[in-house]
Amino acid sequence: MPIKTISKILEKARDERYAVGCFNIVNMESFEAVLEAAEENQSPVIFAIAQIHLPYINMNRMVPMMKAAIEASEIDGAILLDHAYDKEVVEDAINSGMNGVMFDISMLKYDEHVSKMKEMVAFCQSKGVEVEGELGFVGRASGSKDYEAEKAMKANFQDKPLFTSPIEAKEYIEETGVSCLAVSIGNTHGQYKATANLQFDLLSSINSLASKPLVMHGSSGISNEDLKEAVKRGICKVNYYTGLSKAAVDEIRITLENDPTWKDYHPLMKIGKSAMKAVVSSKIKVLGSAFKC
Ligand SMILES: [Zn+2]
Repeated sequence: MPIKTISKILEKARDERYAVGCFNIVNMESFEAVLEAAEENQSPVIFAIAQIHLPYINMNRMVPMMKAAIEASEIDGAILLDHAYDKEVVEDAINSGMNGVMFDISMLKYDEHVSKMKEMVAFCQSKGVEVEGELGFVGRASGSKDYEAEKAMKANFQDKPLFTSPIEAKEYIEETGVSCLAVSIGNTHGQYKATANLQFDLLSSINSLASKPLVMHGSSGISNEDLKEAVKRGICKVNYYTGLSKAAVDEIRITLENDPTWKDYHPLMKIGKSAMKAVVSSKIKVLGSAFKC
């Protein structure tokens, strides 16, 4: 089916009270893992390429392939540039065929943030592309390559972890024209264990005032039970990558440790893909998006 806008995918999720998984794509295997899991579950899904992953994936080559594969499938899908920091990268992403941009300037002070976001929304709208904003600040657990990359990207921003304010969220959505809003409610990027302490009452307050669907990043650090509760309280898009990455690495590590004489590269890719596909499939069920295409 033709790729869908993010708001088309998320407004339906909000009306029918489920959430759509947004999974980071870093190569062909991760893309196929997400696409095949979505197809098997007849689930809408958002494919995301993060700016910090661009050293690993050539979006100008990859996005047209992704778009063609989504359009040849029966699923509802969008392709989003995740955590964009630079306008040139946004322009490249749009030229490559992406139809959504998560513009990450949540470290800026509110007024500056709003005015920069308004400009970005106007620019993207002129190209038929929608924008996700983030209000409050979702940090990143240390210890991974992504942590170092994000730290470098955010070097010019002030380092101030913050929860999202419900009143600000309402104003921000109305002023900026974003299509969906990522919130900071105790979630953290890059957490390998489910240890987040989510502020559910805060989430309910934000949701009662927000006129657009809400997004939660850093979902690998959140238990399935808490994910379900967050969806009940208004989360419509759940960003998930660390758990996928870990599942692939764990399976590949077991394979290599079991056979120290292992030489072939290509079977490892398949092992990684199967591990990621199983995780995507299980998250789709947790989020309630199966059979929603
Ligand atoms: Zn994120």
